[in-house]
Amino acid sequence: MSCVPYLTLVLVVIMSLPIGPAYGGASVQPTGLLDIEEQLEVLDPSMPEAYFTLGEELAAEARTEQDYKLVQRLYLITILQSHDQPNGATLAASACIALADTARADADRRVLWAIARMLDPRYSIRDWSRSTDVVVTDDVAFETATALGHIRSGWGSRAVADLRRDDVQRLIRRYSALITGTIQQNILPELERQAKEWPCPECRNDRVVTKRHTGRIERRLCYTCGGNPGPEMTPDELIGQLRFESFLLNSRQRSWGAQVAADLGEPMRDPEIGDLALRFGVDPKRVLYRNGQWVEPLPTESHEDADDNGESDSTTPEDAP
Ligand SMILES: [Zn+2]
Repeated sequence: MSCVPYLTLVLVVIMSLPIGPAYGGASVQPTGLLDIEEQLEVLDPSMPEAYFTLGEELAAEARTEQDYKLVQRLYLITILQSHDQPNGATLAASACIALADTARADADRRVLWAIARMLDPRYSIRDWSRSTDVVVTDDVAFETATALGHIRSGWGSRAVADLRRDDVQRLIRRYSALITGTIQQNILPELERQAKEWPCPECRNDRVVTKRHTGRIERRLCYTCGGNPGPEMTPDELIGQLRFESFLLNSRQRSWGAQVAADLGEPMRDPEIGDLALRFGVDPKRVLYRNGQWVEPLPTESHEDADDNGESDSTTPEDAP
């Protein structure tokens, strides 16, 4: 290596170094025997699983923005290097889910989940990942849908307890738009009011009442509910509730219309693996960590001779991480 390019490289490296450790100021500490720099430098794109494992290790300790950027890069390299390899789809799908956990934007999380489902059908479950503040289990979804059914059928008293639950309330608030068709209107107070009104105060949902009439006992249709207990609903209101329940209960066959309503018209991007690097601002070609920088492998640097080729002056360093 001649002196001038070497100095240039050193200067580039020094100038691009942030204050703090060379891997970009990440505050995570190594858990193994090697420090992070060393763990990063032994990574080889022919073994993408090692990127994923290190990413998970660092994610557990990540605190700063730089930490998460490093973790995201490791997951991204895992996905890009493994998804089209034999038996690599499962690893790539796992990395997609892990990356989704670190993503801030709902749109990014949805795309990552969509790609994971494409790669590995085992991820074809209901996608609750869109909302970070709503943690929904199948039980909560089922009980929420059941509560709405109770209200509609006039057994609101059976729904009152469920409507007081925090997890049920969060779910209804979050997806009120499915029921109301508008973004801002929270349907919960209306559901609580309906739940308290029923069963029928007159017939207790017997649908008929007993009256004494001119000395005889007659059974007549209830005057209050007209034999049909439960809140009056317009067709639109009924459709809204059914759409919401369908969304809750139907994992794989969720309708396009319900998805649009749940997303409130947010534009959806096609799930393309090739777009992921751009989304997360990572150069997909820089898969090697050398001298504190992510660099492209040299054209001659195959996986076999990577270890004994120490020169990196023809690579183009990029700010870490
Ligand atoms: Zn009645």
